[in-house]
Amino acid sequence: MKVQDIAKELNIEANTFLNFLRDQGFRQIKTTTKLDPGTTTKVKKQYKSFIEKKQSETVALPEKTIPFNKESIKVSELTQLLEYPMGQIMKIFLQKGLMVNLNSEIDQETLIEIAKDLNITIEIEDLSVENELGLKTKVMEIESESITETDTTTVRPPVVTIMGHVDHGKTLLLDQIRKTNVVDFESGGITQHIGAYQITHNNNKLTFLDTPGHEAFTSLRARGAQITDIAILVVAADDGVKPQTIEAINHAQVADVPIIVAINKIDKPDIDIDNVKQQLSQYNLLSEDWGGKTIMVPVSAKTGKGLESLLEMIELVAELQELKSNPNSACKAVVIESKLSSQKGPVATVIVKAGSLKIGDFFVIDESYGKVRAIFNDANKQVKVLRPGDPGELLGFSTVPQPGAILASKSSEKECKAYIDAQHDTKLTDKSLSQKMSVSLEALSSQAEEGNLRQLNLIIKADVHGSLEAIKGSIEKIESKDIPIKIIHFSTGNITENDVLLAKASDGIIFGFNAEPSSEAAQCAQKEKVTIKTYSIIYNILDDIQNVIKGLYKIEYEEIEESQIQIREIFKFSKIGKIAGCYVTKGKVERNHKIRVIRNGDEIFSGDIDSLKRFKEDVKEVGEGFECGIVIKGMSDLQVDDQIVSYVIKEKKVL
Ligand code: GDP
Repeated sequence: MKVQDIAKELNIEANTFLNFLRDQGFRQIKTTTKLDPGTTTKVKKQYKSFIEKKQSETVALPEKTIPFNKESIKVSELTQLLEYPMGQIMKIFLQKGLMVNLNSEIDQETLIEIAKDLNITIEIEDLSVENELGLKTKVMEIESESITETDTTTVRPPVVTIMGHVDHGKTLLLDQIRKTNVVDFESGGITQHIGAYQITHNNNKLTFLDTPGHEAFTSLRARGAQITDIAILVVAADDGVKPQTIEAINHAQVADVPIIVAINKIDKPDIDIDNVKQQLSQYNLLSEDWGGKTIMVPVSAKTGKGLESLLEMIELVAELQELKSNPNSACKAVVIESKLSSQKGPVATVIVKAGSLKIGDFFVIDESYGKVRAIFNDANKQVKVLRPGDPGELLGFSTVPQPGAILASKSSEKECKAYIDAQHDTKLTDKSLSQKMSVSLEALSSQAEEGNLRQLNLIIKADVHGSLEAIKGSIEKIESKDIPIKIIHFSTGNITENDVLLAKASDGIIFGFNAEPSSEAAQCAQKEKVTIKTYSIIYNILDDIQNVIKGLYKIEYEEIEESQIQIREIFKFSKIGKIAGCYVTKGKVERNHKIRVIRNGDEIFSGDIDSLKRFKEDVKEVGEGFECGIVIKGMSDLQVDDQIVSYVIKEKKVL
């Protein structure tokens, strides 16, 4: 049987199988080489056991973390969540003496207990995740809204976001893809940076978001705009899976966006692609050639090797998603970048999700409306229309729209006004999200009259030099006649204690771009009351600087009470000392909350929880109506009937 036919039977690519055979010691073999029946049976067996081994390695892998964001779950849904057979899960229930059936609902705590036996940590997520998903649904609705059955729908380009760990080659990959294929790419010239670009490949258009990283992706999502159709996860073959790789996987998976893995830097010596695949298999990404479903393409952003295959795979995944929209319908577009230009007024880069947008079209966005005055494409050329999936820069807004805002075209100014009035009346809009950043010119100028700041001192830290230069350049361009902005220090790397001290000494603020404070720096900043702001999107820094110099907001800290707890018994242990046997009367206490102890109405202690227990186990949180054991750091004389209040400290922007 020919090698290629055996591959077909095994349901894998001929070349993948060829590589497998070569690894098994076959020499001078091609896809057309014929193997005798005995050898055919043997290699088939070998391949199957190879796959089984890989899969069992994956299953046997210890420790897994699964996010969970509901109050409870049905037993019948556990197989899907935990990815273990029901029989095995039921056995654990029995071992624990818990009588359940498939329809039983179990709470978070029981879930955590059961998962623990499978070496799975359940990470309880807060409701904001649910919000994001809810908001995502909003965008999905937009798409389906415009696609009725009678519409003549056409395929729209997919919107692709590149994610992955820092230095794994996201930016270079984006640049290479742009250089080889960008529509209207001016030779030798630099195309206008508008936050997204489009290429044509095999007569298919593909739109790429130009801000690499899951931070931007998630930030847009958090504002209600799920624009990414496909995520490319870049993993450097010489470095493997790293913290931000895992974050990116989590972000894409929670958003239900298909992932294509680009295993990058394959031009480098001493790399181990199999090792990368093995690492990824721990995060639910099992390569196709190992019997899984994830497409993994080895590439080199440096030499261009594999880019062609990567683009083909993007096309394939896009085709499977059946992304369609009717270009003749009303337009829905999402803002991905926005700014206030001194010459053009408010401008924004949008990606059209449905329908088309033409010069002269009226539209509503947040609670304002506008008329399209001009459209520029990603090559900075004026165009008359944007079609589904196209990115473009728009002029004609009455205020600066916030990234993530959704623009909807309307047939007339009258219709826009009626729509906004109706929104006002029903208060159906997501005001908290949409209003806070839409800064009008009027609002800015009126704020400028206030403000007592003489000079704004900034310390800028960024992950890479390129970002640093870009941020510096943009800040220097901010026009502020009354309040000079001075960058007193800038460098790459994380925010250190030295940075905090410098800020303290000069009454400055620290801005970190993909740069976080070390734990010492964070502690020092809290003590010295130095403001550290971290970002993953440059324009958010610029926005905040604008806000500061215009006196738009100050930062204040407030305590938010999370739970009330009653001490009912005191237990003494020789090794750990006293544990307070408590009952949560209100709210939910978490291990990392701060606490206050109240006795007879007076606060007698404030500090931190040392340990929080349910039965004998250390737990992260305990909900209302449950009993728990608490040890408080530095407080040993707790008494029955003392009250504990747990709280968190939140940063609050004050307008
Ligand atoms: P990002 O932080 O993920 O955007 O990574 P960059 O695109 O900035 O790349 C980080 C470094 O890796 C740069 O020095 C790139 O030149 C280098 N790099 C990126 N891709 C490749 C590759 O395929 N091969 C090699 N040898 N170097 C690469």
